Amino acid sequence: MSISRKFSQSAFLFAFGLLSVALGGCADSADRSQKSNIKTTSASKAQNVILFIGDGMGVSTVTAGRIFVGQEQGKLGEEHVLSFETFDNVALVKTYNTNAQVPDSAGTATAIMSGYKTNIGTVNVEPGKELQGCGDIPGKPTFAQIASDGGKSVGIISTARITHATPAAVFGYADSRDWEADKDIPEKVIDYGCQSLAAQLVDADTPVNLALGGGAKEFSDIQFGAWDEQGENHVVVKTGVEFSALAASDTQDVLGLFTPSHLSFEADRDPAVEPSLAEMTAFAIDNLSARDTDGYVLMVEAGRIDHAHHGANAYGALKDFQALDEAVAIAIKKTGDDTLILVTADHSHVFTIAGYPKRGNPILGLVSPSDYIAEKMDDDKRYMKAKDGKPYTTLGYHNGGGEVRTPDSPALTDNEVQAREYRQQVAVPMYSETHAGEDVPLYATGPGADAVRGVMEQNEVHSVMVKAMGLE
Ligand SMILES: [Zn+2]
Repeated sequence: MSISRKFSQSAFLFAFGLLSVALGGCADSADRSQKSNIKTTSASKAQNVILFIGDGMGVSTVTAGRIFVGQEQGKLGEEHVLSFETFDNVALVKTYNTNAQVPDSAGTATAIMSGYKTNIGTVNVEPGKELQGCGDIPGKPTFAQIASDGGKSVGIISTARITHATPAAVFGYADSRDWEADKDIPEKVIDYGCQSLAAQLVDADTPVNLALGGGAKEFSDIQFGAWDEQGENHVVVKTGVEFSALAASDTQDVLGLFTPSHLSFEADRDPAVEPSLAEMTAFAIDNLSARDTDGYVLMVEAGRIDHAHHGANAYGALKDFQALDEAVAIAIKKTGDDTLILVTADHSHVFTIAGYPKRGNPILGLVSPSDYIAEKMDDDKRYMKAKDGKPYTTLGYHNGGGEVRTPDSPALTDNEVQAREYRQQVAVPMYSETHAGEDVPLYATGPGADAVRGVMEQNEVHSVMVKAMGLE
């Protein structure tokens, strides 16, 4: 008899009531007294702001990522504390776009960077101001522009193409997020003077001093030349070797694009070819803080958490999440109490953690029961079984391109579901797994962090950063 038929919901609730009592005094619970990541600040203004965006990093990704990172360190996992989980201020952020209940990265990044919500697919263009953005700013200036005008240096890092929606919203304006390269600009709008996001990044007026990531194919040789020609301290690097030869203390304006399109998933990255997110973050902080400017702003995007989720590949998403956690840890280490650090997501994904796995169960694995449940099972006690009598995974997606489970689906094995390429099963078949519409978390520490609290509209993140720097 399967466990699902033997157990009522109330029996489960009772079971977990007992479990929580049993685990209450456990030696493996985390030591929350080590709040070393809180910046006890004497500074009233933030000299620097570092904004980390885990693209698609909803709460379920953070929880699964925490367990994944903890288990990689030999812990049970659930008790692990991530680099940013000791920050003193946390809020929930509402992510909808002006015309979309479930948003995309362009609309959400616009909210964060420019302080207003806009239409899905649009980069820093106010609803109704399409085509006005070409040649003039089609809305409010971006946070990076305000910071640059206020004497700050500006850096951007992304594991996606540097012209992709989230990094593009730091510096660019486009009616469509698709306008990454010149060839992507529709013929009918060229007459309006619309420029590609690549062209805007290398323009003499760009607020950006440092850009590291992927997406070299979006730039023409002329555009790479345009970056170089902005001054003697401007340099283009295209390989990991060239990048490692740079000294951050030289404070060069670096455009470093290491792959034609997105950087590799962290799970596949060759460290000799592509720098890690943490390495790029460390370089950027050293480079920007060595400058003779009045502080800096830095946006760091873990862009491929989102892409792995779209592929219904939890392994890939959690490895890229781990890379973000490591990058935040480096930033905490390298900065003082004059730096506001924010960690958030632009939107969530339809990613779930479910099915009563026992404490410490491998997060990517099949669901194994706790002892309390196992002793009531009369058949194979290794795995919990679904109604079809077969095992199931802890992690899953509501929709996407993974296998749709049917009564004829073969029984899953632990080897199979923990493999690099495995795509979790889905309920609704889609070509690509989708974003989700629930709120995302925002973690903050440093000067101005106390404005991060309660339930916030996403565009309020912009004013948190502007006010923290005293740039109102
Ligand atoms: Zn996405």
